[in-house]
Amino acid sequence: MIIRTDAVVVTCIDYRLQPLLDEWIKTQLGYGNYNRVAFGGSVKNWDTVFSQIEMSRRVHSVNRVILINHQDCRAYGAEDSYERHLHDLRQARDSVLERIPDVAVELYYLWLDGRFERVD
Ligand SMILES: [Zn+2]
Repeated sequence: MIIRTDAVVVTCIDYRLQPLLDEWIKTQLGYGNYNRVAFGGSVKNWDTVFSQIEMSRRVHSVNRVILINHQDCRAYGAEDSYERHLHDLRQARDSVLERIPDVAVELYYLWLDGRFERVD
């Protein structure tokens, strides 16, 4: 029996994001077709988050990793800035590709007004 899903999505736990995330994920991925990891600060606590990505790969054969950080993240506190989030997202992507080279990694910065900005 092959158990798989297409994607793992990593987000912050922040309640303000959940309606935005639900809608966006449904549009992008459909329903029931992804693993969802929510952790305060999203990629900030990388070792913990990566363990869930690695597990998603191992047990559900995901081939797409979607990392979403957001504006005004309280988990970052005084370190919260647009530049810091982009830096951390890119660093997280590098870390995934270093250890799981055959997945696609997509980065997004979520603005509180609901825009999902794709990060290169
Ligand atoms: Zn947050």
